[in-house]
Amino acid sequence: MTEILIRNAESLLTMDDQRRELAGADLLIRDGAIAAIGPDLETKGEVVLATGCVVTPGLVNTHHHLYQSLTRAVPGGQDALLFGWLQTLYPIWARFGPEEVHVSALTGLAELALSGCTLTSDHLYLYPNGARLDDTIAAAGEIGLRFHPTRGAMSIGESDGGLPPDALVEREADILADAVRVIDAFHDPAEGAMVRVGIAPCSPFSVSRDLMRDAALLARDKGVMLHTHLAENDEDIAYSIAHFGCRPGQYAEDLGWTGPDVWHAHCVKLDGQEIDLFARSQTGVAHCPCSNCRLGSGIAPIRAMRDAGLRVGLGVDGSASNDTGNLVQEARQAMLLQRVANGANAMSAREALEIATRGGADVLGRPDCGRLEVGKRADIALWDVTGIDSAGSWDPAALLLAGPSRVKHLFVEGRQVVRDGQIATLDLPRVIERQNALARALMG
Ligand SMILES: [Zn+2]
Repeated sequence: MTEILIRNAESLLTMDDQRRELAGADLLIRDGAIAAIGPDLETKGEVVLATGCVVTPGLVNTHHHLYQSLTRAVPGGQDALLFGWLQTLYPIWARFGPEEVHVSALTGLAELALSGCTLTSDHLYLYPNGARLDDTIAAAGEIGLRFHPTRGAMSIGESDGGLPPDALVEREADILADAVRVIDAFHDPAEGAMVRVGIAPCSPFSVSRDLMRDAALLARDKGVMLHTHLAENDEDIAYSIAHFGCRPGQYAEDLGWTGPDVWHAHCVKLDGQEIDLFARSQTGVAHCPCSNCRLGSGIAPIRAMRDAGLRVGLGVDGSASNDTGNLVQEARQAMLLQRVANGANAMSAREALEIATRGGADVLGRPDCGRLEVGKRADIALWDVTGIDSAGSWDPAALLLAGPSRVKHLFVEGRQVVRDGQIATLDLPRVIERQNALARALMG
């Protein structure tokens, strides 16, 4: 039996069903789960002082492309719209291999961890030169984050009228076979799982209708989740109407891509009917406000989605379209962006933090995560509010209204991944050195 006691939190935001906020509380971790919350708890194990800290559930990231941390701020793509941006980056991504995928994943995961993330999904949709989903799963195991990788795919290359170069697309039979392989090898449906695999064709404009349908059938057969990009911007809607004769929501519904086991990234351009469809079918949404700003895609109707009862989580999206991967800042951006669209009372800091924690966990089908409650997994972030970022603050909402934007301590399944602001499980300077060497080689 392993115990860690987190003692005397300045404020503990539980995100439980009553959204309780406790002052001066302790939290006891036992064998990877939360064993007790309350005053004056005792342990024979390690004690971590939370004096001066706001304690929250670990943040949950529902959309990312970890590999893109190797293509941040690429000059030709800095100011392009989505399709032009993709066409700038595809030839660079075509030079990736297993090492690029592994090291970029380590970098992206470390960046997430330092910003309070304990559970992340990833959407890897290209597999050049022998790269495999396994390379990212290994990285998550090394750093110790809870990981929901998705087996992404593109199958319509330039020669078939698609956007990506032919070198980056795969045969659809191979895609499905590899999805079966990684699910059988890595997917763990049990409560407390550290790895769950999903299936994720890149987007309706980079795979066929048949692959979308077959992916949904396979996911249901295997009991795994489905993920893709949907309704990201105006070009995306125009493409859907021109090529499929309907809007993205209808296309998704026709092919089996709605339901509690499905979540779509972006959904910036969902209309009222599509919001109703997703709410009715309990389809989830990964909201990526920084990416939407960066690519000028628009403001997703998150207020309307939440009011309709739609499940919404947050995503930093790929490091190339953000270009950072700081999840707590993403929550701040979500709060600010809804206020741009709907006024200063459109989203509170507490609601944005809820979306970033239990909201994301629910989107990923993880009611065992995203809240601090007895029996839930011990995925916990400690934020030091004694520093300059929050000096003079009166309320834990300052975490999003002011700062800090990095954690002091982070626990995943009860294991300490960040200690005193540093990654405890990796030699991070060595990872950064390898990442920069790979970026230089790709640039040349
Ligand atoms: Zn994306």
